[in-house]
Amino acid sequence: MNVVVFSGGVGGARFVQGVARALAPEAVTVVGNVGDDLEVLGLHVSPDLDSIMYALAGVNDEERGWGRAGETWRVLESVAELGGETWFRLGDLDLGVHLVRTQALRAGTPLSAATAGLCAALGVEPCLLPATDDAVRTWIATAEGELSFQEWFVARGHRDEVDGVRFAGAGSAAPAPGVLDAIATADLLLLAPSNPYVSIAPILAVRAIRDALTARAVPCVAVSPLIAGRAVKGPADRMLARLAGGTRPAHVAACYEGLIDALVVDEADASDLDGLGEVRPIIARTLMVDLDARRRLAEAALGAVPA
Ligand code: GDP
Ligand code: CA
Repeated sequence: MNVVVFSGGVGGARFVQGVARALAPEAVTVVGNVGDDLEVLGLHVSPDLDSIMYALAGVNDEERGWGRAGETWRVLESVAELGGETWFRLGDLDLGVHLVRTQALRAGTPLSAATAGLCAALGVEPCLLPATDDAVRTWIATAEGELSFQEWFVARGHRDEVDGVRFAGAGSAAPAPGVLDAIATADLLLLAPSNPYVSIAPILAVRAIRDALTARAVPCVAVSPLIAGRAVKGPADRMLARLAGGTRPAHVAACYEGLIDALVVDEADASDLDGLGEVRPIIARTLMVDLDARRRLAEAALGAVPA
């Protein structure tokens, strides 16, 4: 069985780890968000792709929740001493990745090929593709004006309420090589429990990817990032309350109207399933505390297709 998982960063990466344990690695293609990409200290950083890559390579820091295990911060200390920008925290090991990626991009290598090279070097077996090799960047409308994604999320700690999101460059962006083929040959499509507005929506903003999902011949299953109406981490619940009018399973499903056939919801939300319409609920424990929990959640979603 071949699957394609659409994923943001940390939340998505945990789920992707589970999928990669539930299936043979060669059966798994991950399409990652690039709307959060940015340039820091002259380097191209792809935070969501890296979270997925580190998780699949088993080098992610479980305690901190992002970045690499065993990380050190000597370079950042030096940057601080020199009065350079330190608001976006890049560790020494992480910086190695950004150096290699940035050099490849400057030499004309597309992001997808640069990502493949990094994944191969780190021993990542599933195929990790950026949604697009083109620049798609997420902008956040707030009362303080329109902020770049990372200014809103990291620099300002996502405290500003969100009035809207915009994906600059999406209108002319093409799917990265391999994305449409993977969707066309998949037996199941999965939307990870990532933030629907700023992790999954920028992927779906690439028109040809959305069209491929709309025209799918196989089931598409989303996993809710909310448990008892609350985000496990981050602003997804506040965004849903404000932009979708609530944080019930039906509000999550509404983010994916016409794109999903089933929604995996937590046991804590099992009594709150009104308004799902054609979307079939799959009840599971969705808190991904460890690798076992991640695999079990993946299996619940994979169960949407008969083995
Ligand atoms: P980011 O790009 O690093 O912000 O990560 P994602 O968008 O992929 O994931 C963020 C979302 O993951 C948040 O909305 C969380 O609620 C969700 N999340 C994190 N851990 C869990 C978990 O254990 N279970 C579920 N259901 N959602 C989770
Ligand atoms: Ca992200």
